[in-house]
Amino acid sequence: MKIIKFGGSSVANSSTIQKVFDIIRDKLKSHEVAVVFSAFGGVTENLFSIAELAKKGDQTYRVLLQTLEERHMNLVRELIPVHQQSMVMTYVKVRFNELEDLFHGIFLIKESSPRTMDYVVSFGERLSTFILAEALQGQGIKSQFVDAREIIRTNGRFGQAKVDFEVTNALIQKFFKEHDGMKVVTGFVASTEKGETTTLGRSGSDYTSAILAAALQAEDLEIWTDVSGVLTADPKLVYTAFTIPQLSYNEAMELSHFGAKVIFPATMQPAMRRNIPIFIKNTFDPNNPGTLINGDENKQSLIKGISSISNISMVTVEGAGLMETIGASSRVFKALAEAKVNILLISQASSEHSICLAIKSDESIGAKEAIEAEFHYEIKSGEMNEVKVQHDLATIAVVGENMKHNPGASGRMFRALGRNNINVAAIAQGSSELNISAVISHQDLQKALNALHEAFFLS
Ligand code: ADP
Ligand code: MG
Repeated sequence: MKIIKFGGSSVANSSTIQKVFDIIRDKLKSHEVAVVFSAFGGVTENLFSIAELAKKGDQTYRVLLQTLEERHMNLVRELIPVHQQSMVMTYVKVRFNELEDLFHGIFLIKESSPRTMDYVVSFGERLSTFILAEALQGQGIKSQFVDAREIIRTNGRFGQAKVDFEVTNALIQKFFKEHDGMKVVTGFVASTEKGETTTLGRSGSDYTSAILAAALQAEDLEIWTDVSGVLTADPKLVYTAFTIPQLSYNEAMELSHFGAKVIFPATMQPAMRRNIPIFIKNTFDPNNPGTLINGDENKQSLIKGISSISNISMVTVEGAGLMETIGASSRVFKALAEAKVNILLISQASSEHSICLAIKSDESIGAKEAIEAEFHYEIKSGEMNEVKVQHDLATIAVVGENMKHNPGASGRMFRALGRNNINVAAIAQGSSELNISAVISHQDLQKALNALHEAFFLS
């Protein structure tokens, strides 16, 4: 069994979808396969923006919803044989009627909880996957549409639900045993024990495919996207970036944690547990070998790749005398964890009077409030300063197993940044010693990425 997953960029329109079907047909010649699909390219973002408009009381959300419905209907016309179209169109129509009701509700109460939003965005994958399963069926491939809410069980942390693997693995194995045909599974979505719809996090379809691969002990997992594998840097920012032939699971996890959005960080965990190889392949260049991610710690180059995250803010917690005391920093982390703030990088200044934390900018207000509430008395008494927040920053990270044994990487990194007059606001080395990361001004990001890429890969 092979699991193959296609992202939104691969299922963007009917001509890219024909390429996807060619790939599936080719795999079927030699393998049993199950397929995972994302929503049609851009649909998840559309659903979020329609909800934003409705929440603001802006009537134009209806126009956008109408356009989205037409896009799905057109795909049905283009992909499905005429005699099957009316059944599929009915399915699509009913789903859009439900969406209309949902958005009308959001419009009326001017509010959409994470739980509601998970239900709203689940329509993206449910629609695309149903239509694509019917289209494959129309092409003579016996296919079974699978709503992943039936086979993936999670907790109720909406937007970023955690998988209950024991229940999920059993559900997957049972479903696959009891149903015939090639399974065509919705990415991204899951459900709680109570039947509430949840999602696995943005870009969570990659994770869905790894969950299936592990439960079914698949021979391998192929993730098909719009680039030829994981590259040495994001090709949209570094034009000379090139494909990395092989990465260890840990390297892939670190690169993606620090912003390589070509693969979702959690994807590696289920695959790693069962030692299932992951291939990242290009739908638009299927003969390119792409990247293999597996357990090998190949140490040929000093680093494997560079990644970055934009829209970063840096929170500085300062207090002479205070920050050295036992427990102060753990109070900072506890306050942030309770406020559900995701810390991307921690850097302790050598003076130890302060801690610097890099976080997503949209979490910075919550972070400042949480820390200042926790240290209310210390701030009042002057033992601690008000929490400082700096905006318009980015993080940049170099990643590779080889850094563990080779101290040269950080020198080379900071020399390259220095030569290019790039000011570094904070630095950190991951506890795994697989990465070195730095916070810089967002303005310098592209220059910094290119300088590092040149220093590590082109000289
Ligand atoms: P999909 O729709 O297939 O899920 P994504 O847009 O999520 O595709 O991921 C593919 C994109 O990831 C690429 O187009 C590329 O711009 C971006 N990307 C960022 N960093 C990297 C990297 N190191 N290697 C390859 N792609 C990267
Ligand atoms: Mg993706």
